[in-house]
Amino acid sequence: MRDLYVPYEYSEVITPQIMDVSLWHKSGHYENYRENMYFTEVDERQFAVKPMNCPGHTYIFASQRRSYRELPLRLADFGRLHRYEKSGVTAGLTRVRTFCQDDAHIFCMPEQIEAEISKVLQMIVATYELFGFGDVKFFLSTRPEKRVGSDALWDEAESALRSVLDKLGRPYKLNPGDGAFYGPKIDFLVPDALKREHQLATIQLDFNLPERFDLSYIGSDNSPKRPVMVHRAVFGSLERFIGLLIEHFAGAFPFWLAPVQARIVPIKDSHNDYCRSFIQTLKAKGLRVEIDDRNESMGLKTREAQMAKIPFALVAGDREMQGNQFAVRKYGEKESKVMTQDEIIALFQGLNDLPNETVRKAQQSMNAGTVGAKI
Ligand code: ZN
Repeated sequence: MRDLYVPYEYSEVITPQIMDVSLWHKSGHYENYRENMYFTEVDERQFAVKPMNCPGHTYIFASQRRSYRELPLRLADFGRLHRYEKSGVTAGLTRVRTFCQDDAHIFCMPEQIEAEISKVLQMIVATYELFGFGDVKFFLSTRPEKRVGSDALWDEAESALRSVLDKLGRPYKLNPGDGAFYGPKIDFLVPDALKREHQLATIQLDFNLPERFDLSYIGSDNSPKRPVMVHRAVFGSLERFIGLLIEHFAGAFPFWLAPVQARIVPIKDSHNDYCRSFIQTLKAKGLRVEIDDRNESMGLKTREAQMAKIPFALVAGDREMQGNQFAVRKYGEKESKVMTQDEIIALFQGLNDLPNETVRKAQQSMNAGTVGAKI
């Protein structure tokens, strides 16, 4: 995600973990969200532990005079959030009391909404493709009865969201009246292995917070204007996303994502040094590998590597050591194949490069200005 922030031009920021309650009064969280927040007192001042990054980002926006030339301003924050959940509703990794999001807020002019949403949508589709989530459902929620912001602003925002979804060329469902009081939104539901649907990504327009925090930029006509704020996350909660990934892959992660990518198995103690030296070579190339030098049989050790769903087991005995080789066994396959160290390095580097391919494509489409075209 950090690599994708480069082509999509996000700036990563950090905001404080606790902030004075006056900020949460101003944002409306204290009145509407207090039951889900943690509080603390320092020097007789009351602070709240942040449940969301948004109010902090409005302070960054307002920290200096902004011109329309600086927009859109995209601030990304992996800040740790705390939300009180009753102990009965917390569940595994999917619902926890503290989590991080790949959270970001985009401050833009109303006429920039369409282009911005288009970029976010492209980022979401590309990311989900990389993880193999093909079955994403899109929902567009529009204006409810009770709302803030002028009808003209809602018209502009809703038609921008609709236009972006139409151009995407994938079916989406309209939820009329289901938008938040502060703006329309696009939701994304992803099914897990048990076909339960989880909300991961979100794109939420917000006409309210810029009003509450009195945000403004100087327009091209030299007069102050109110920006629109977009809340967006691609993964959503990283904890929930990881929970879903574990189920989605049934623990057998693709190579580039696996916590341990290969386990090296020396047949005898006399092969340990040979294996350790190759581990150093692989680690220096950013690969995640470990050795199983226990005094157990080779059969047991390779079986355990399979049970742990490690993408590759590399076995070395006398013959392999002499030829600078390893017997390479891929997870899920019965046969192994003898490969030289150089061949293994090339194979692993190629597999590890998959997410970079997504980043390169993003960079290309930004350079070519084709963002918003049919994906
Ligand atoms: Zn937000």
